[in-house]
Amino acid sequence: MLDQNKINALSDTAIAPRGLLIDGQIKPSQSEQTLDVLSPIDGSHLTTIAAATKNDADLAVTAARQAFDDGRWRNMPPAERKKILLKWADLIEAEALELAVLGVRDNGTEISMAFKAECGSAAATIRYYAEAIDKLYGQIAPTAPEFLGLVHNEPIGVVAAIIPWNFPLMIAAWKLGPALAAGNSVVLKPSEMASLSLLRLGELGLQAGLPDGVLNVVTGKGIDVGEVLSHSMDVDVMVFTGSGATGRRLLEASARSNLKRCYLELGGKSANVVFADTKNLEQAATVSAAGIFRNSGQVCVAGSRLLVEQSIHDDFVAALAQAAAAMKVGNPLDITINSGAVNNAAQLAQNLKFVEIAQSEGATLYAGGKQLHKQTGGYYMEPTIITNVKKQDTLAQQEVFGPVLAVTTFQDEAEAIELANSTDFGLAGGLWTSDFSRAHRMTRAMRTGVVHVNTYGGADISVPMGSVKQSGNGHDKSLHAFDKYIDLKTAWFKL
Ligand code: NAD
Repeated sequence: MLDQNKINALSDTAIAPRGLLIDGQIKPSQSEQTLDVLSPIDGSHLTTIAAATKNDADLAVTAARQAFDDGRWRNMPPAERKKILLKWADLIEAEALELAVLGVRDNGTEISMAFKAECGSAAATIRYYAEAIDKLYGQIAPTAPEFLGLVHNEPIGVVAAIIPWNFPLMIAAWKLGPALAAGNSVVLKPSEMASLSLLRLGELGLQAGLPDGVLNVVTGKGIDVGEVLSHSMDVDVMVFTGSGATGRRLLEASARSNLKRCYLELGGKSANVVFADTKNLEQAATVSAAGIFRNSGQVCVAGSRLLVEQSIHDDFVAALAQAAAAMKVGNPLDITINSGAVNNAAQLAQNLKFVEIAQSEGATLYAGGKQLHKQTGGYYMEPTIITNVKKQDTLAQQEVFGPVLAVTTFQDEAEAIELANSTDFGLAGGLWTSDFSRAHRMTRAMRTGVVHVNTYGGADISVPMGSVKQSGNGHDKSLHAFDKYIDLKTAWFKL
């Protein structure tokens, strides 16, 4: 249970300027440059973070390389590595409220969601992979008797992980957990819009006993630090969550440098399909509203396209608008708030621009569409519903990453499938029906990494989160995530 008084006390404390974590040391950028951290809650100046330059990023990669090559982590007995990662998870859990408040002041996610989805999920994720360390076996191949084929699981080397601003702790943990459990070293690059909680996560890792150089955290602009990491000849694996535009640059950088493996988790334009035979339409409307409007729509899997069967369109959209109107949008540190702040001014301006474009293309502004709480100096936006969106419209095709829902109708199952698959994205989707056979047909037919059935959102660490089409490749979460961080080495013996 969240305690508002404790949150208020934590959010009143000043945040000290933060340095980089390189080779076990917290230090300023060699250039002494810093970036200002602005609060999305009221636009005020929160603190500064070090702005790493090429030299700093190179030092971090060298430290990670050294730590990998001398085996201080990968050759540590699995039970010891597991103990350190479990202690790290315990420390995250013990400091969950402090971490959540720090993160919310930086990125604007409502505290009720941040506490659970950020800190709770980060601790659970690190723990899940820690526990797997001494349960993963190599293999013996079924060869002819005069041979022996052993397949070893080997860590790959230096992993660079580049993280977005919407759920920094959760997404970083999805990458750090399996990368470190497999024995790799990591250079973590947080978003310049949400670095504070990840710097603290790194410090807790040191406290838990991660050897120097095994986890490095370099903050700074993508165009500076990110580009150095993506072009580095000493990074073996690049794991990224963020926009498609940046993902493309990373693939190019890989091709221009050392062909490092690149795993991308990108954007989405996920369809939430509601059939007239849905058992409880009111509940579907409430869950669907949360599925697009929580965290101000800054959720990669947000159900940002509502595809609704024509016969229930009017009633369903009215119920959804009612659910949206009941959501409280405001200061994300208030425990009663359902949707916090938009992360930054540019994102808010972009959200509002999408509303304008949609109307100019003939769609109807049904609800919302405006900035909220302007007088606070922070960035807030009304949950926005736009109807009569055609499948080729900008709003049906491009990711907003804000609280803007595009509504389109369909006549039958075939048209629902056609519309659901009519974007370049393939991240997530939702499906509401009481027809069991239809649910199976639809989940197979929707070209996405995940389909939520009779719900929207949620899952746990035991299931993979992947994507198809231009939403990326590879999987975070579950034991499948190890595939990105483990090489299979064959030892072939003639007996
Ligand atoms: P972004 O691509 O702008 O930034 C992501 C990260 O990349 C940041 O750390 C940034 O500093 C870095 N970066 C920027 N330019 C770079 C460059 N040239 N080289 C290397 N790194 C660079 O994305 P964002 O605005 O932080 O996040 C929003 C996007 O992330 C949305 O598209 C959203 O859908 C996506 N996202 C996807 C998932 C998923 O799991 N698929 C999860 C969350 C967010």
